[in-house]
Amino acid sequence: MKVKFITLGCKVNQYETQALVEEFSFRGYELTEEAADLYVVNTCSVTKRADVKSKEAVSRAKKENPAAKIVICGCSAKDKKYYFDKSGVDLVIPQDKKHALVDIVLGKPLSNKDIWSLKISSFFNHRAFVKIQDGCDNFCSFCKIPYLRGRSRSRLPGQIIEEIERVSQKHKEIVLCGVNLGLYGKDLVEPQSLENLLERILKISFLGRLRFSSLEPLLITDKLLSFLNHPKVCPHLHLPFQSGDDGVLAAMNKKERVIDYEAVVAKARDLNPEIAISCDIMVGFPAEDNPSFYNTVEFLKRTRPMRMHIFRFSPRQYTAFSETRIANSKETHNRMQTLKKLAEEFSKEYRQKFLGRTLSMVAEEKKEGLIWGYADNYIRVCTKDDIALGEIATVKIEKIDNARTCAIKA
Ligand code: SF4
Repeated sequence: MKVKFITLGCKVNQYETQALVEEFSFRGYELTEEAADLYVVNTCSVTKRADVKSKEAVSRAKKENPAAKIVICGCSAKDKKYYFDKSGVDLVIPQDKKHALVDIVLGKPLSNKDIWSLKISSFFNHRAFVKIQDGCDNFCSFCKIPYLRGRSRSRLPGQIIEEIERVSQKHKEIVLCGVNLGLYGKDLVEPQSLENLLERILKISFLGRLRFSSLEPLLITDKLLSFLNHPKVCPHLHLPFQSGDDGVLAAMNKKERVIDYEAVVAKARDLNPEIAISCDIMVGFPAEDNPSFYNTVEFLKRTRPMRMHIFRFSPRQYTAFSETRIANSKETHNRMQTLKKLAEEFSKEYRQKFLGRTLSMVAEEKKEGLIWGYADNYIRVCTKDDIALGEIATVKIEKIDNARTCAIKA
């Protein structure tokens, strides 16, 4: 039987796909990118756009093989069940049953597994995502994730160490991921800290390098920051700012205020002036008006993140905004354009600091006759030189333009 996965959304969702792929393979299924007998669509529902993409994935699968069995899982499975049922899918498996998906598809009795039963021994990408935490306790007013993935739960440290020992034998970069990574360990019977876990991970002899996925600024301790100077930790922080205006942050029920953002950025840059700061910014949130948007622009001009993930507010079910109607999308469009221009400017400015210098990149893919991959400081680099995919190589930055950072092997 051939199985094909279509995965949308975050690193945690991609990790879960990898674990399910391995379980299907263990049960004799063959993974394929072609037409398949079974399709598993691992959906995302973080924005309206993600919901639309999830639905489109189902239509594509049905078109590719109308006779195939289609299984839906992931964050859209819960509140889009009525839709998916109507669209002729065979099974809709909610997030809290994802770990039992293979048993359900095979009609096997469900064993007493839990979300941590999903494990990986390798990863479909050369930089491997390792999930250590799930769920969230923050309840930001625009976000439905806590309603879909539940409260914060952490994986036992021993399981994480075992997995990273396994995966780092094949993958030179490990990205620690979670829904709210900074909450790691607080819910365990014997509470653990992310810092203690890091100390153990960094002792793993096979470990090439380690990267953190998104971290809520108020959960970043000075000790956690100090790890960013460790030779095996990527000097990169991804911070979900969402806005640079205190009024909007309050309406978002964010725990942080602008002063907290600037404090963590300043501390990180004190430790390493060239640290890579990337961020998420939301545009069009109902409480955002021209003066507050202006504050966000000024905040970004002060912090100058090297990469900005900019996305539009969209009303989400279960949240305070589920009934909100999107107003004035023209204005939101203009604000998106303003931020995209800023993002380009800051990205080029940051990359130019490394012109003529060496960086270490993981060779991830071959495209347009070039090898592409991320440097430790999250700059996406390309090179004509031949580097084996999956390898870490030292490269010298030769040329920078708006879109590319070109390098030669050093
Ligand atoms: S921190 Fe906020 S935005 Fe992030 S998952 Fe939790 S509730 Fe959602």
